[in-house]
Amino acid sequence: MMFYSGSNVKRLSWFRLLCLGATLIYTPAAGAQAPAPFAVELRFLGKTLTAAQQATVREAAARVSQLIASPFVPVTLNLPANSCDSNLPRIKEKVQQFFVFVRVSDLGEEKYAEAAPCDLHDGSYLPIYGVVDLNSNGLSDLPRVDLLDTMIHEMLHALGVGTLWEADYRVSLSGDSDEKNLIRKVNGKYYYTGARALAAYRNLGGQGGTGIPLDADAGHWAGSTVCSEILSGDAGDYTGRVNPVSPLTLGALEDLGYRINRAAGNRYALPLKGCPTDQDEDTDAPASAPVNSGTAKTVYFASCGAARAAGAAPMRRGQPGYRPEMDGDADGVACE
Ligand SMILES: [Zn+2]
Repeated sequence: MMFYSGSNVKRLSWFRLLCLGATLIYTPAAGAQAPAPFAVELRFLGKTLTAAQQATVREAAARVSQLIASPFVPVTLNLPANSCDSNLPRIKEKVQQFFVFVRVSDLGEEKYAEAAPCDLHDGSYLPIYGVVDLNSNGLSDLPRVDLLDTMIHEMLHALGVGTLWEADYRVSLSGDSDEKNLIRKVNGKYYYTGARALAAYRNLGGQGGTGIPLDADAGHWAGSTVCSEILSGDAGDYTGRVNPVSPLTLGALEDLGYRINRAAGNRYALPLKGCPTDQDEDTDAPASAPVNSGTAKTVYFASCGAARAAGAAPMRRGQPGYRPEMDGDADGVACE
């Protein structure tokens, strides 16, 4: 099995990695390919996702599946309907792999989606299945790259990242809890203290004396600390690009008890000098001005919104401001 190693991954490789993932999981390969040790199975409820949206959701599932190297332990469930959430079917089966119900629901105006793990395995306290709700408001306008990111983010929640960090939620099928806490509150602020993610954070230069700073909801890395990272509390601000899965999030999976496939993570540097500016499409004023990124590129737009506001979109490959992250379909034209 071939993966791009972390050190060789340049920005463009993200897309290659995705394509590779899709190939490994969905194309019956000519050579005998060992089955992926872990796969996220999708169960769509209702019929409100288009075929293209479903394909994007599958791509996200393949991407998340790649991150995990430990096999799923089969378990027999016999649960009445609605036992995890309303409007879920009865589950009576031997579950062979982790699955998520994917639904489209009215979640109001504020968010793209939400997700939760459902029942947890006895012993490991890892989720057996989960549920992801995509917001029907604005879903049809959500660009492919943002739906992809949203689903990766939500599937990580369904796997327990950000959702099973407190003892209260760590109750397994038979009602036991391991009483494990992966966060703590100091002076009114939440910090993540799980060993693997914390080590990764320090490794990247983070000041982790107390822990990794978390958002006020205690389920995401603090947006100001990680900026565009996939589990950033501010990830939704970084639209029009793919948000990286960093060693922090891989470490968080490890802290939960998954074995991980480090090579499937993304190249990531902790933004020690603060987040790049201009990412907020809603900012009215000088946000639209291109800024010098300080690298070889002379024009840098943090988002397609910023590029559009500056009148620069769409941008072709080779033109100032073009970045592969903004070119979701990799056709050489960004922010179409
Ligand atoms: Zn979230």
